[in-house]
Amino acid sequence: MNSQHLQQLKQIIQPNEIITDPDITKAYCTDQRGRYHGEVFAVVQPNTVISIQNIMRYCHQHRIPVTPQGGNTGLCGGATPHISVNNQGIILSLAKLNRLRALSYEDNTITVEAGMVLADLQATAKRAGRYFPLSLASEGSCQIGGNIACNAGGLNVVRYGTTRNLVLGLEYVLANGEMVSHLTPLHKNTSGYEMYQQIIGSEGTLAIITAATLKLFAPPLTTLTAWVGVENIQSAIQLLGALKNHFAECISSFELISAQALSLSATYSHLQTPTESDWHILLELTDSIPEQNLIDPLISILEQGNWINTVIAQSETDRSHLWTLRENISEAQRHLGASIKHDIAVPIEKIAEFIEDCQQQLHQAFPQSQTMLFGHLGDGSLHYNVFISNILNSEVYQHEESINKIVYESVLKYQGTIAAEHGIGQLKNQWLPRIRTQTEMNWMRAQKQQLDPHGILNVGKVLPFQS
Ligand SMILES: Cc1cc2nc3c(=O)[nH]c(=O)nc-3n(C[C@H](O)[C@H](O)[C@H](O)COP(=O)(O)OP(=O)(O)OC[C@H]3O[C@@H](n4cnc5c(N)ncnc54)[C@H](O)[C@@H]3O)c2cc1C
Repeated sequence: MNSQHLQQLKQIIQPNEIITDPDITKAYCTDQRGRYHGEVFAVVQPNTVISIQNIMRYCHQHRIPVTPQGGNTGLCGGATPHISVNNQGIILSLAKLNRLRALSYEDNTITVEAGMVLADLQATAKRAGRYFPLSLASEGSCQIGGNIACNAGGLNVVRYGTTRNLVLGLEYVLANGEMVSHLTPLHKNTSGYEMYQQIIGSEGTLAIITAATLKLFAPPLTTLTAWVGVENIQSAIQLLGALKNHFAECISSFELISAQALSLSATYSHLQTPTESDWHILLELTDSIPEQNLIDPLISILEQGNWINTVIAQSETDRSHLWTLRENISEAQRHLGASIKHDIAVPIEKIAEFIEDCQQQLHQAFPQSQTMLFGHLGDGSLHYNVFISNILNSEVYQHEESINKIVYESVLKYQGTIAAEHGIGQLKNQWLPRIRTQTEMNWMRAQKQQLDPHGILNVGKVLPFQS
């Protein structure tokens, strides 16, 4: 049957748009953490939107499961095929659909295809004298289509919002091959329900995103980066409040790093730790006005609050040193071993209480547990990764359910979310009904049924899987 589909697909797309060599397709079938391994009979890599429409029409007609894939940097197993459809379907990789379509200085917008790598998009905006603010440690590989599909957050949410806030319009192909184009640079449009908003954050379960019109901004011409050692989370939150009072939208990043996470990253990066403390803040202030005086008011705020355990970057090298320590945490953890990762958000005012409570419960249940905590405190989201010091290999996943139960129940107790910015994928879909009401779940199922009636798009992702 698969060979028949393969022959048919070869009739409707170009030879360079299909990969069947198992040595090559294997890499597409494994997620970047190496946790999920799917199987497909082909990876298709269309060059054009028309080609995507043809593929989707065929797959819809023959009920062939399609897994959309961007840069495959997602952390929830969303971009690799679910085990239930092993060898029955295809991966649709957007990598070749990566062109710049338009740039408007008047509207301050850029329109690009979904497969453009985020770093290339940032560079294109920079060459045009503009700034695209979405920034993640995976920006060298992830694609803007994947960012939109996950509603990615990253390092600048405190100032610019999540990806959703940056999207003005989308072009996408539905499961049946129909293309919906809403690539408008309009900053205002109140004409009825906004369908493209449902596609943002739908993780490839409702449509294939093919292009987007995005907001651009003035480039930051003054940047001030500082590292502050703080005694506890409460002190970090007070610092955030003090900065908000004075600097408002000039705060572009406010990152929290625990002593354990810093020590791990410093060793991995062969860099010195800037401060000695239980907790650390990496903050960045930016302004589009050149040579704006940010430093004097920052020093004054830090002195007033006795946040004197501080290093202020004096050069681009200093700045890069500080950011490397933050950005290498994920990679340093990977070298340490396997852990149970959580991408959570809790209201900022409850974070300190949540951390203490959850930590206590984890230690009770798993005395050998160690939490590696870091994240985007400025917007309330945290990476809460639990290591068990005597099980640093994949055997730790045997305890995943119990650890998740402790962490996620605590998150819910403090009115947080179990998926701040990485999405649900196949990692957390069984938890979705716990964080959404029955009405919301019914609405999501109705959307899925209407846009993908044969259920071919990203099977087993987001909505709880029923075999
Ligand atoms: C080191 C590291 C750091 C990270 N830091 C952050 C961070 O700070 N903030 C954050 O939010 N995330 C972060 N991530 C997670 C990840 O990079 C993001 O989720 C990213 O947005 C995924 O983009 P991608 O192109 O790799 O998508 P993929 O991993 O390929 O796909 C992700 C999901 O989107 C779907 N999808 C992809 N492209 C399309 C498309 N064109 N149309 C429809 N569906 C599509 C896939 O089916 C899948 O469900 C990090 C990951 C790594 C490895």
